[in-house]
Amino acid sequence: MKIGFIGIGNMGLPMALNLAKRPNLVTGFDTVATVPDPLATADTARAAVRDADVVITMLPNGDILNRVYDDIVADMPSGALMIDCSTVDVAEARRAAAKAAERGVRAVDAPVSGGVQGARDATLTFMVGADPDAFSAAEAVLGQMGRKIVHCGGQGAGQAAKVCNNMLLGISMLGVCEAFALADRLGLSRQKLFDVAANASGSCWSLNTYCPAPGIGPKSPADNGYAPGFAAELMVKDLELSQQSANSTGTPTRMGALATEIYKQFAGGAGAGRDFSAYLNEIGKPTP
Ligand code: NAD
Repeated sequence: MKIGFIGIGNMGLPMALNLAKRPNLVTGFDTVATVPDPLATADTARAAVRDADVVITMLPNGDILNRVYDDIVADMPSGALMIDCSTVDVAEARRAAAKAAERGVRAVDAPVSGGVQGARDATLTFMVGADPDAFSAAEAVLGQMGRKIVHCGGQGAGQAAKVCNNMLLGISMLGVCEAFALADRLGLSRQKLFDVAANASGSCWSLNTYCPAPGIGPKSPADNGYAPGFAAELMVKDLELSQQSANSTGTPTRMGALATEIYKQFAGGAGAGRDFSAYLNEIGKPTP
């Protein structure tokens, strides 16, 4: 299969390298990053997609995605498939897909969960918005970069699933951090809170699997000095997308709005470059 891959960054590079391990010819293009062997390189995005069966984009935001689509859609062979794996606003994803449809090219949104490690290990989860036949075509390619591929509905549904999940994640992590901070002040040990809540009605992924308190629960970024993991800045990006969607649909997401404000402040200060679970350090005071 001939694959054009646009956006060879932290996520795009390991994803493209996994595709190149299979019998594919993968041509990469990035405006800044150097495209390494064994990927083929192109001087322009248009050159990267010429003759491609599949074009994958892994870009910073929806504005850039749409500018790249404006540039390349005219050069896409008919019958080709465009898969956007970036995290972008639902409306921007639909706008990009509509441009492809105008040219008779199939397009799907397939944002990911799993981070850089998941990209390296080819264990990403893909949330896919696509027509049924475009989904079948995309599934075979995504399976080379990930482990779980969920068809969420029509175009934009993948981004919708991602934004709802990550808004929930941001809110639940703040809740877990606040519970530990309160336990600290009440003289309750963090380990005891974990032993109770992880087996009670407070249990959730942010507590049970990704505990923000070091030395408690399974290994998490807290046990590695809060090196990300999932950086606080990326949480801000996803929460802001959730609020864009909430505003455009008139959805009352007061917790989502508050989580956005808290993470913006945190990522602009002590949280810069750290995992989003490091927020516990802002408010917690573990008993010695
Ligand atoms: P990144 O900034 O490392 O990579 C983006 C790449 O796109 C950069 O190399 C940049 O030079 C390139 N680029 C920008 N404009 C371009 C253009 N016009 N043409 C070609 N290349 C261009 O970002 P990342 O961490 O790889 O994230 C990519 C996407 O994946 C984002 O939408 C992000 O929200 C999402 N995501 C990231 C993670 C993560 O853990 N990093 C996890 C899930 C989802």
